[in-house]
Amino acid sequence: MADANVVTRIAPSPTGNMHIGTARTAYFNWLYARGRGGRFLLRIEDTDRLRSTPEASQAIIHAMTWLGLDWDEDAVSQFARADRHVQVAHELLGKGRAFRCFSTQEEIEAFRDRARKQGHSTIFRSPWRNADPATYPDAPFAIRIKAPLDGVTVIRDRVQGDVKVRNSELDDMVCLRSDGTPTYMLAVVVDDHDMGVTHVIRGSDHLTNAARQTVLYDAMGWDMPVWAHIPLIHGPDGKKLSKRHGALGVQEYQAMGFTAAAMRNYLARLGWSHGDSEFFTDAQAMEWFDLDGIGKSPARIDFKKLEHLSGRHIAATDDAALMSEIEQFLAISEEPELNERQRAGLLSAIYCLKDRARTLPDLLEKAYFILSERPFSVESIDSVSNGILTDLTLRLQNARWDRDTLDRVVAELAEVRSIKPGKVMQPLRVALSGGGVSPSAFDMMLVIGRDETLLRLSDATEH
Ligand code: GLU
Repeated sequence: MADANVVTRIAPSPTGNMHIGTARTAYFNWLYARGRGGRFLLRIEDTDRLRSTPEASQAIIHAMTWLGLDWDEDAVSQFARADRHVQVAHELLGKGRAFRCFSTQEEIEAFRDRARKQGHSTIFRSPWRNADPATYPDAPFAIRIKAPLDGVTVIRDRVQGDVKVRNSELDDMVCLRSDGTPTYMLAVVVDDHDMGVTHVIRGSDHLTNAARQTVLYDAMGWDMPVWAHIPLIHGPDGKKLSKRHGALGVQEYQAMGFTAAAMRNYLARLGWSHGDSEFFTDAQAMEWFDLDGIGKSPARIDFKKLEHLSGRHIAATDDAALMSEIEQFLAISEEPELNERQRAGLLSAIYCLKDRARTLPDLLEKAYFILSERPFSVESIDSVSNGILTDLTLRLQNARWDRDTLDRVVAELAEVRSIKPGKVMQPLRVALSGGGVSPSAFDMMLVIGRDETLLRLSDATEH
């Protein structure tokens, strides 16, 4: 389904951490463009100077980078394009598609108060819409669009279907404020047009904006993008997603130790489906993703599913890539870097660590036996076990160091002592790992080797 003409974008407002919903929208747009050989752009909507912060812009860049959602060209700052927005506002004026409005804030408020009291629509109808320029005062003015007064505006939405809005419900919205600053509504349309955006895929909370933005596209005679408004994400209880449901910011998921691949898979499944597929790769998602697969009802956040997918992705990630995920994770957690010994150890152990870890902290917990140095503080070895381990130590001294032989040594010892092999394995595991979560004793012995195994057994039996 190649279509190199496709241009999508994510246009986050930098007012806090990157929200999980924004990340999902970003990934949908990324998939749509990347799957077709098109372009995916990033625009930071920092027009609202009071709410936008440089830290929040950085947080967006970090979150996108961590998620592996690369964008084409430099990220665009909406605020930096203000001159162009002003220019378009004046162009609208020149075309007679907008007008100067001299109404003051107090007048508008008074109008609204009256309308509320009388039970009328509070949509402001400016007395200046058709005023004779000869009557213009020498005062600051806003530039307002002349919205159509009757008829309907239809948004042909690829997810929601045809959405009709009565034009009587649309206001002559402000494009340029009386202080000369462009409004968000104008800026979005101008930027999407100038950036060549062909598909606007975003949250359904922007659906009413689409109707107002349509008025602007029409007034400028610009081609409309394809609209796709995706239902918002809800909590597990079906209510609007909020803090009480758990983590909302992308960084929080990174801090919990989910891998980026798992997050992408999970985000794709929040509102989009391809048959019954739950676990899939980026390549599959890119091949399959289409607007038709987006559901009409809100997706529900499902932490169990995320953990499950995360475990499967960890198990499927190749060792070197997983090492680099782990090192990144340690860095963002402000944990000490791995030293050479630990790095080499972890790499040799990773095959037996990645199997049942749902998150990177799970994996690291299981890696204690290789990351820490002996002697461990082993407490739970009783005298019987002590005897068993002493016996085992003798038998391991000359054993061949492979899984079958080690297995046989344990089995023979159990047989001689008429005990179950578990009675050998359990204290052995404690001696090798210090007693916490660990891989199987055989895996640990194979990873650390004979000398280290014997040293740890001796630490434990002398205890
Ligand atoms: N800046 C808007 C937001 O963060 C998105 C606008 C858009 O996608 O058109 O919700």
